[in-house]
Order: sequence, then structure tokens, then C-alpha cells
Amino acid sequence: MEASAPGRKPTYDPQCYLCPGNERAGGVRNPAYRSTFVFDNDFAALLPGTPTEEMNEQDLLIASGEPGICRVICFSPRHDLTLANMSEPDVRVVLDVWAQQYSELAALPSINWVQIFENRGAMMGASNPHPHCQLWATRHIPNEVAKEQRGIDAYVEKHHCCLLCDYLKLEIDHGTRLILENDYFVALVPFWAVWPFETLVIPRQHVTDINALSSEQRDAFAAILIKLTSTYDKLFRTSFPYSMGLHQRPTDGNPHPEWHLHTHFLPPLLRSATVRKFMVGYELLATPQRDITPESAAERLREIASE
Ligand SMILES: [Zn+2]
Ligand SMILES: [Zn+2]
Ligand SMILES: [Zn+2]
Repeated sequence: MEASAPGRKPTYDPQCYLCPGNERAGGVRNPAYRSTFVFDNDFAALLPGTPTEEMNEQDLLIASGEPGICRVICFSPRHDLTLANMSEPDVRVVLDVWAQQYSELAALPSINWVQIFENRGAMMGASNPHPHCQLWATRHIPNEVAKEQRGIDAYVEKHHCCLLCDYLKLEIDHGTRLILENDYFVALVPFWAVWPFETLVIPRQHVTDINALSSEQRDAFAAILIKLTSTYDKLFRTSFPYSMGLHQRPTDGNPHPEWHLHTHFLPPLLRSATVRKFMVGYELLATPQRDITPESAAERLREIASE
């Protein structure tokens, strides 16, 4: 059972393979890092040297090699922190590392998609509470992203405008699904949310990727991520589990002006620190169902955020 109170964690855990100075699998030792720290995943699901062979047997057995890169990004040397209780300058450093990693990997001809994501909490399968995220960079555009790309392309073809710019305008007009705003970012529960407290964080300005954000905009991004995650923590008085990740321009060499940077938060909790939503039965076989309306989720989060 998930603990319902955050509890006090030590700032350093001698058993944690992500803490500074500790040994990881395979005997590599972490440096005594003092800020954000990036390393190649010791258990990488993707390897750069994987051959790109295609296989197709009678249009039934179809596969292709997926060369790629998996990295781990420790947000902080402090074992006990989360995005929600890190300082704004420290989260800003994390964002700068995301931007630097994105451009480094985008420059590789074999990399066409860079996925930065965080699995937070044991409920989401996070193996270690040390604040960190992962980065998987691949040759292929992954399925969920390809679906978004089709939606974006269809909208652009019909309206000749950016889908998310128009969507954000509409949401600001309605107001009912908004949670948080600052000068440069808005956090809202999307109209199509299927996870009870699913949210999207969208920059007001049309930017295709994190590198296109100005210094001021990055500070505002850090501020809204801290505010949103701490609002989540207060909802059920627990260190709120979630999967989150950035979606931004593919890195296939095309400019992709149709892409508008955004961050998805997909948290599993429904009614309390221990009662979660399950995607089962009809949802797996037919279509996902909503347990609460996006408007009621937004209202609850908005109230907590304004306390
Ligand atoms: Zn640690
Ligand atoms: Zn846009
Ligand atoms: Zn997306």
C-alpha cells in the first residue's frame, strides 16, 4: 500500500544508486555531483549500435531495428526532494539540461524523436524515489506521438493555424478547465482527459521546442511545474504519483513549425492516496471512460492552487 503521508526521507541514502558518490550496477561510481547529473542508462532499452534492418513476412510479421539512446537525468543530489519541493532556480537548471540534451541528441542523424519523461512514485513503477527523469531518443516516431502528429496535421490542413494555439485560446475563453497561469504558461485539464487529474502545461507563445524558450520563459516554466506538482501533492496529501513528459518538435531534420511544445501529466490517482483509476475491461477493449469530468477535476485543483 502506498504511504498516505509523505514521511521524512533522508537527504542521502547509502543504498541509492542515484545518490552522489554511490556505486551503480556494473560498478560505475557516480561523481560527487552538486547539481543536475546526466548519465547513460546502465539498463538501456535502446542501444546506439542496433542495426536498422527491416523485417516483413507476408505483411504479418513486421519489425525493424530501433537504434537509440537512453539516459537518466538526476534532478538534484538531494535524495529527499521532488519537483514539488525543489527551488525555482534548481528546477530551472533541470530545464536547461533538458534543453541541452534535446539539442545534443537532435543533432544526431540517427535520432528523430527525443522523449523526456518522469515516472514518479512506486504506483507508476518508479524503482527509485531519488528525483530523476529519463530520456529515450529513437530513430522512429513513437506511436502516441504519431497519433498526435496526424491530429495536428489534419487541423493545420483545415484551419491553417496551430492546433494548440487555437485550443489554448478557447480554453482561456471558457476558463472552466484552467488550473494555473503565469505570464508565459498555462496549466489546464484537457477537454479529452481520461486520467482523473490529467493535465497539460502549455506555453502561451508558439514555440516548437524547449530550446526556443527565452530565459524568462524557462523561469516561468520552472515556476508552473513546481506549483502544479505541489498542488497535486496537496490534493490527497501524498507525494502524488504520475507519468509526465514533454512533447516537442521531432528531430528528423524538418523544421516542424506545426509543433507546439507541451507537457503531459498523467497521474493514476482517483479518490485518495491509495484509490487509483484502472484502465481495464471496456477501456482496454473499446475506449477509455472518464470517472470525473475535466471541469470538476480542474475546479478542485484550482481551489487548492489558490489557497
Ligand atoms: Zn538517492
Ligand atoms: Zn502554437
Ligand atoms: Zn502531446
